[in-house]
Amino acid sequence: MIEWIDMFSTEEACLEYLGMLRWPDGYICIRCGENGAWKMKSGLYRCHSCRYESSVISGTLFQDTHKPLRLWFEAMWYVVNQKNGVSALGLQKALGLGSYHTAWEWLHKLRRAMVRPSRDRLKGFVEMDETFIGGERSGKRGRGAEGKTLVLIAAEETSVGIGRIRLAPIVDASGESLKEATLQMVEPGSTLRTDGWDGYNILPNYGYIHLPTSHKNAESGDTTPLSHLVASLLKRWLIGTHQGAISHENLKYYLDEFTFRFNRRTSRSRGKLFYRLVQQALQVDPVPAKSLTTTYSR
Ligand SMILES: [Zn+2]
Repeated sequence: MIEWIDMFSTEEACLEYLGMLRWPDGYICIRCGENGAWKMKSGLYRCHSCRYESSVISGTLFQDTHKPLRLWFEAMWYVVNQKNGVSALGLQKALGLGSYHTAWEWLHKLRRAMVRPSRDRLKGFVEMDETFIGGERSGKRGRGAEGKTLVLIAAEETSVGIGRIRLAPIVDASGESLKEATLQMVEPGSTLRTDGWDGYNILPNYGYIHLPTSHKNAESGDTTPLSHLVASLLKRWLIGTHQGAISHENLKYYLDEFTFRFNRRTSRSRGKLFYRLVQQALQVDPVPAKSLTTTYSR
């Protein structure tokens, strides 16, 4: 912690770190594509070839921020250090922010950076199932339900249990919806174990090996135990950390945060997690405040 504070005690140090992560092989001009630049003050770089000036934060998640980067760095450090995630109120208190809305907005922006724009798909042996999130009444499979979001879960099976996961909201459990989401989440050629729901039958047409297991043949009667475990952990997390107060429109990003944390649950190095989050914040497009759905309950 002290080491971390020493490292990022000034704006210049934060800007330096961002520059290193954004251009690991040296500056590249966004206008002419040439290498090399003069470092100006406040994170500005001037291209050796065309003299174009650009900032290390332009075109990233930090673009147009009015707050010090040190505060952003503190926010990211806090986010990766809370094992179960953080609420906007928690972040507001930890950073001493005057506004709840700023904390809320920052968390939403950081969630956008929790998924790498070109992330790898799962592969090997993958278990799939859907679960309903939110709403009061139980939903009908295949059709969706009022106030609920259907989420597709994909979980890699490894020798020690669950490997990596992917989560995606889907409109229904029809073959077409399942196919679209599966292509995003799992490498063709992988073996998919499901409970044998009809919708999954389409998947062998797209290069997957489908292994439907019927309930009565499964050990302990559970055909997809890994997905069920992920579903229950996800629900507990949504209620525990976020009091379940998540709008339909924003759920996708909470799923990204859960995935980010889950897939790195065994990583002991918080520094590495921080590095990853900052790196990805530089890779995602800016998120204008106006684009965030600001319906929240406290
Ligand atoms: Zn240039």
